[in-house]
Amino acid sequence: MTDDDPRLIPLNGKTPQEGQFVLYWMDRAQRVRLNHALSFAARQANRHECPLLVVMRLGGEEPSITRRQAKFMAEGIQELADELSHMGAGFVVLAEADDKAFCGLLGRTVIAITDVGHLRHHRQRRAWLGDNAPCQAIAVETDLVVPVGAASDKAEYAARTIRPKINRQLERFLVDQTDERPQKSFSGIALPAGLAPHDWEELAAVCDERGPEPVDWIRGGHSEAKRRLASFLANDLPRYDGERSDPTKCRVSHLSPYLRFGQISPIEIALKARAAKAEAAGFLEELIIRRELAANWCHYRDDYDRYEALPAWARATLERHSDDTRDPGYTAAEIEAGDTSDAAFNAAMREMKATGYLHNHLRMYWAKQILRWASSPQYALETIIALNNRYFLDGGDPNSFANNLWAFGLHDRPFQENAVYGTVRPMTQSGLRRKFDVDGYVKNAP
Ligand SMILES: Cc1cc2nc3c(=O)[nH]c(=O)nc-3n(C[C@H](O)[C@H](O)[C@H](O)COP(=O)(O)OP(=O)(O)OC[C@H]3O[C@@H](n4cnc5c(N)ncnc54)[C@H](O)[C@@H]3O)c2cc1C
Repeated sequence: MTDDDPRLIPLNGKTPQEGQFVLYWMDRAQRVRLNHALSFAARQANRHECPLLVVMRLGGEEPSITRRQAKFMAEGIQELADELSHMGAGFVVLAEADDKAFCGLLGRTVIAITDVGHLRHHRQRRAWLGDNAPCQAIAVETDLVVPVGAASDKAEYAARTIRPKINRQLERFLVDQTDERPQKSFSGIALPAGLAPHDWEELAAVCDERGPEPVDWIRGGHSEAKRRLASFLANDLPRYDGERSDPTKCRVSHLSPYLRFGQISPIEIALKARAAKAEAAGFLEELIIRRELAANWCHYRDDYDRYEALPAWARATLERHSDDTRDPGYTAAEIEAGDTSDAAFNAAMREMKATGYLHNHLRMYWAKQILRWASSPQYALETIIALNNRYFLDGGDPNSFANNLWAFGLHDRPFQENAVYGTVRPMTQSGLRRKFDVDGYVKNAP
């Protein structure tokens, strides 16, 4: 990566200062492998002949990291702590509320680096760093294949409008890199007492202790992400295109929680998928085009989670139908309890509560039914966002917000008019039955 790479975003006009180390505030990209921000920070440390310190700050995310997510994230952080120690970098995890400790570190920093997330709290953190670091501060985008600003300079209408823009630049950005390492070891430099990376309960305590219990069918960390990817490429990718809409076949990667916490680079996934023997176009469409459309949405729209952000045609049609009878109609509590007359919906609700995961086709159906049953589209959106981010391990991601709003017409087009939905795309159980064995799914759901 050269110094004029579009991944680099200057956060202030300051210069490097005298100090003890280069500091990398690891925010979104919680990994060592193919982390452009970490590599850039190591290169700066080597250029200034000083060691590298990696700092994580937890708490203050919006939505907050749930207890369930905290355990998954902590498993990744433990592995990360070992890898950073092995490469001679310092590492400390601080509570975001502990500004004093972090500002103390910034006072000893030569250059401050961070990575780039696309939600409001990520933007606020970058702005804060630019203002409060007494030295030069730079953000490095590393969680998209094509950096969001290089792909497009505006919120895109749909996959069809962003696809050619991303594809034009894919060969430039979809490349492996040699991860740079700091040459000077961090040993002997005093650090403030931080949180214990191996103690997920301690990490959860500074995030959000509420919410569902952790799950044990999936383990966090880069090694596990790589293992899942290898298994998916060998066993499921060959049938991904034909069977990906069938939740009972489950020909999907389950990589979304790893991507959510930056535990694996989308570039690593995409390069390995391309190199696999099977046809990967359908999978790459989801991983790159759909995922980066969601990042584009949250990057360019500060109101990315608001009803008012929906396209005008969608709001107009939903409002025209706002007095339509909801039959049946359910409250958020009945929906969350999975206490409806729709067995497929109830099974999906049970699955997401028990496992923190749901197949994409069921997520679509789940959200569309809530829109149909809730007393107003605004109430439906609030309910969907709250449940999505409370239960899913991959919740609190740009994908969460873009897809929750998709159920209301975002990035989509008008369809034939129906009750309640208006011209927003409906989804019915008969449509679901044409795609897969719904009764089999209900029978086997938790
Ligand atoms: C109502 C609704 C809510 C959703 N909430 C979330 C969420 O909270 N977090 C989340 O990460 N995804 C969300 N999605 C998108 C999608 O359902 C999940 O990313 C996918 O099911 C994750 O499973 P996987 O990793 O096995 O997917 P795979 O099919 O193996 O796809 C690989 C990767 O491609 C990306 N991807 C797949 N489908 C989509 C999509 N429709 N839009 C954007 N990127 C996609 C994901 O990063 C995924 O990990 C939601 C979709 C809907 C319709």
